[in-house]
Amino acid sequence: MNFLEVSQRFTEMSNTTKRLELTNILVRLLKSANKDLKKLVYLTQGKLLPDYEGLELGMASKLIIKALSSISGKKEEEIDALFIKEGDLGTVAKLISEKKTQNSLFSNELSVDYVYDELTKLARIKGEGSIKNKIGIYQDLLLNSTPDEGMYITRIITGRLRLGVSDATILDALVLAFAEKVHSEEIDEAYNFHPDLGEIAELLRDGKLSKVLETGPTPMVPAKVMLAERLPEIKDILEKMGGKAAFEYKYDGMRTQIHIKNGKVKIFSRGSEETTSNFPDIVEHALQNFNVESCILDGEAVPYNSETGELYPFQMVSQRRGRKYDLKSKVEEIPVVVFLFDILYLNGQALNKVPYLERRKILQSLFTENDDFKCATMLLSSDPEEINGFFNEAINSGCEGLVAKNVSDDSIYRAGARGWLWIKVKRDYQSAFEDTLDLVVIGAFGGHGRRKGTYGALLMASYNKDQDIFESACKLGTGFTDDVLFGLPSKLAEHKTNRKPARVESGLTPDVWFDPKVVLEIIGAEITVSPVHSCAFGKVEKGAGLAIRFPRFTGRWRDDKTAEDATSTEEILEMYYGQKKVG
Ligand code: AMP
Repeated sequence: MNFLEVSQRFTEMSNTTKRLELTNILVRLLKSANKDLKKLVYLTQGKLLPDYEGLELGMASKLIIKALSSISGKKEEEIDALFIKEGDLGTVAKLISEKKTQNSLFSNELSVDYVYDELTKLARIKGEGSIKNKIGIYQDLLLNSTPDEGMYITRIITGRLRLGVSDATILDALVLAFAEKVHSEEIDEAYNFHPDLGEIAELLRDGKLSKVLETGPTPMVPAKVMLAERLPEIKDILEKMGGKAAFEYKYDGMRTQIHIKNGKVKIFSRGSEETTSNFPDIVEHALQNFNVESCILDGEAVPYNSETGELYPFQMVSQRRGRKYDLKSKVEEIPVVVFLFDILYLNGQALNKVPYLERRKILQSLFTENDDFKCATMLLSSDPEEINGFFNEAINSGCEGLVAKNVSDDSIYRAGARGWLWIKVKRDYQSAFEDTLDLVVIGAFGGHGRRKGTYGALLMASYNKDQDIFESACKLGTGFTDDVLFGLPSKLAEHKTNRKPARVESGLTPDVWFDPKVVLEIIGAEITVSPVHSCAFGKVEKGAGLAIRFPRFTGRWRDDKTAEDATSTEEILEMYYGQKKVG
């Protein structure tokens, strides 16, 4: 397939403001691929392989600028200035190649295969002379590109393709192109255990649906984590779970998925990002404590005081993430204990379909508790009073509340799904209308008066999982310190876009639109019906959506959540009905 065709489709995708149209263009694109489908899917994701393979393209802006300078004969300073003006090196590459002075001796038509293979070469180059070679490959690609092709190649290399498609959007398009809608839930589940869209695309296209559906948890491949629904009252949880449930402490730490295989350990975050290098202590302890050939464990890493055993707030583990330099001192200063609450795989056997209580028994029998690993404290009960007492103990031990787990035989591990098999109850929810939500920044309104020069308010959205769109739910203007407030424009600049992204819906038009990427924790007073917000539009009242009243930023940036992990529209709808019952 020609890369020119791909770049034309990419342009159409970037230009559309409608989710449906976006999917249709993707379907057309996927259908026109041949044996290069897998490569095409990765390129559409702006990647060369799934993230967990750890193949990063990474070419610094400085190198791109150098390459563009030598192609165009323009000074690096000039290109740098253009970069500052445009905010995107892809656009700069396009502008420059429109005025290209030098042409390659053999101007080839670029194919998907060729672009993918060259980019892979570029990513794999290491050692002496690597910078020169990387620049060389990039320049060759540019010299053989049309301006638009060059723009997309540059965006892929700099990790900023920004087509507005998520994995969910691509998966949806794959089902439409190569499978039947009735299988979409099962295909989704397979993807959640093995998030390799290229592989799934090829299998579906080749009619190997059954192979896709066999996919389960795989050691060293991050499974999307199972998530909990929420309810404000213990009696509601018991009712929902058939009168009895296992209640576990809800630890306030960092979700940690630990994979062990043949003496090697990998650790993944809630968002399937590999964090092994930030937790050398957990790696070492895992090998000491688990005498297994292979396994996948799920838990929460929590910082603690090694003298008193007291648990510390979550923020202290987050300091470990992305830290390269003084990690060693941090490991000593902030030891973590991992509270394990699930096991997905053991010694060649997938356990995701084994009921919760049995999984928990297997987990408990696998190791002896110590300062490094413990099982989440759990109470099996049907007595609301006893559970309330347990809830208070959890709070006193520094936990956020409880997570109830269904104890029926159907209580499987559902990767990536928020469902009623797990239900959380947090301290906040116990007071009538106080609730924390994780919402996505989709826009901003310019500030006035004291806020001149920054934003007056952000437009925040929930994620509608069914439709794969973001729906506005409030304007957020309070809870910001001055530092944070005045830092907002630069912090959000990289996500700015010049039109409403296709997967965003709002009755309001902000001064600036953002690609849905950044997640903030907010606390709201009440959920009300709103004529301007599109969250759960038409679900409660015709011609109206839902809005959060008096939203306030809690100060917590949810860097551990992707936009698709934000509070869902469905959750907000449930909270709306829940509060009506209380009120
Ligand atoms: P939330 O982030 O509010 O949606 O709550 C779900 C998160 O609670 C999970 O992603 C885990 O990181 C965390 N958590 C803490 N303790 C438990 C537990 N015992 N079972 C499940 N999740 C837990």
